[in-house]
Amino acid sequence: MPGAAEDLTALTTLRLPAKAAARRDVTDLPALREALADARAAGLPVIVLGEGSNVVFAGDVDALVLRYTATGREVIAEDDASVTLRVAAGEHWHTLVCWCLEQGYHGLENLALIPGTVGAAPIQNIGAYGVELAPFVEAVHAVRIADGETLTLSRAECAFAYRDSIFKGALRDAVVITAVDFRLPRAHVPVTDYPSLREALAGQAAPPEPRDVFDAVVALRRARLPDPATTPNAGSFFKNPVVDAATAEALARRYPGMPQFAAPGGRKLAAGWLIEQCGWRGAEGEGVAVHPGHALVLVSRGGDGRALLALAQRIQDSVAETFGCRLEIEPRVYGAAA
Ligand SMILES: Cc1cc2nc3c(=O)[nH]c(=O)nc-3n(C[C@H](O)[C@H](O)[C@H](O)COP(=O)(O)OP(=O)(O)OC[C@H]3O[C@@H](n4cnc5c(N)ncnc54)[C@H](O)[C@@H]3O)c2cc1C
Repeated sequence: MPGAAEDLTALTTLRLPAKAAARRDVTDLPALREALADARAAGLPVIVLGEGSNVVFAGDVDALVLRYTATGREVIAEDDASVTLRVAAGEHWHTLVCWCLEQGYHGLENLALIPGTVGAAPIQNIGAYGVELAPFVEAVHAVRIADGETLTLSRAECAFAYRDSIFKGALRDAVVITAVDFRLPRAHVPVTDYPSLREALAGQAAPPEPRDVFDAVVALRRARLPDPATTPNAGSFFKNPVVDAATAEALARRYPGMPQFAAPGGRKLAAGWLIEQCGWRGAEGEGVAVHPGHALVLVSRGGDGRALLALAQRIQDSVAETFGCRLEIEPRVYGAAA
């Protein structure tokens, strides 16, 4: 296990400066088990990283930062109605979406251009434009960090919910996901009821095909979201809060025009709208800022994780004071106490 501090700045899309006690990239299961055994022997906890697009390093971490970079996809079952794929965790998510579309395996179009790896996708049950990953997952394969044992979780065992799963709960920091099985329908009715997507597709004469949905989602995302390659960010910095029906009604009476969406347990509010109403769009902190075009996206302009989290806390406090609900940070934060 190397003793020198390893720079993590280039490993996340926020590019926040931080160091780790050790880091290693492994491309297969034997190398993964060996790295986990070395970390145990060195007494180091393990932080698993994919492409670092949903991670905040608030400071240095006394840990092994590990990336499982195995690639590969295979058809493990198929019939007239659907195909089941096993995809290695290190595959790039958007590349998989494009490949599925070309093969005629449908359903993932709405999730096009979400940054990151296949292995990270189940962690927060990625979602966009009215679709979540969960219904397409058949199983998740993983290796337990504590002892290197393999385990397979069914969709039900993954306990998927809005931006949530067992991997953020009971199995948080406990496993390395090594592959995901997806069951994708061949014939598929595209999901187009998300307002901006519906609008984008409105001009089309025929009912949209999966390819039309893919193209529209790609165009919408390119127009709306800052590219992390030029503007370091982690996408949406806060989850959309869910409030009970009575609270939602009271808020709607007080703030006519407040966007609200149906959600299990009540109504989902639009975090970006709440932040914007509080006047935060374009606000700046020490080398960090709220993106001027998108209030839900915090960006780094050379600042560090502490400055970013300080800005996030000021936003959380002001939204709580104005609307009575506290925003939850979406990316995973490491090194906060360092
Ligand atoms: C511009 C932008 C737009 C985005 N848009 C969306 C969006 O529309 N919808 C959405 O849901 N998300 C979105 N995100 C967030 C992000 O793309 C997803 O969360 C993605 O799944 C993260 O993948 P990653 O490989 O970068 O994971 P990382 O950021 O490296 O890791 C995220 C978490 O997953 C864990 N993890 C990663 N790989 C593994 C593994 N193999 N085994 C176990 N744990 C692992 C990490 O420990 C960490 O806790 C966006 C991010 C950006 C920068």
